[in-house]
Amino acid sequence: MSDFVTGDVMRSRKKHPCGGNTWKIIRVGADIKFECETCGRIIDVPRREAAKRFLNI
Ligand SMILES: [Zn+2]
Repeated sequence: MSDFVTGDVMRSRKKHPCGGNTWKIIRVGADIKFECETCGRIIDVPRREAAKRFLNI
């Protein structure tokens, strides 16, 4: 199980449409809020799904 810590940078298994695949965690709760480091887009991902889609770098 991945550990989510605000401020950490994680890598997504699939690239974002902008071409980037590194994301900074900006909020941790029931959902994890990630900011794409390449384009700045912010997404909310349920914790369980985030554990499948994101890897610690
Ligand atoms: Zn992006």
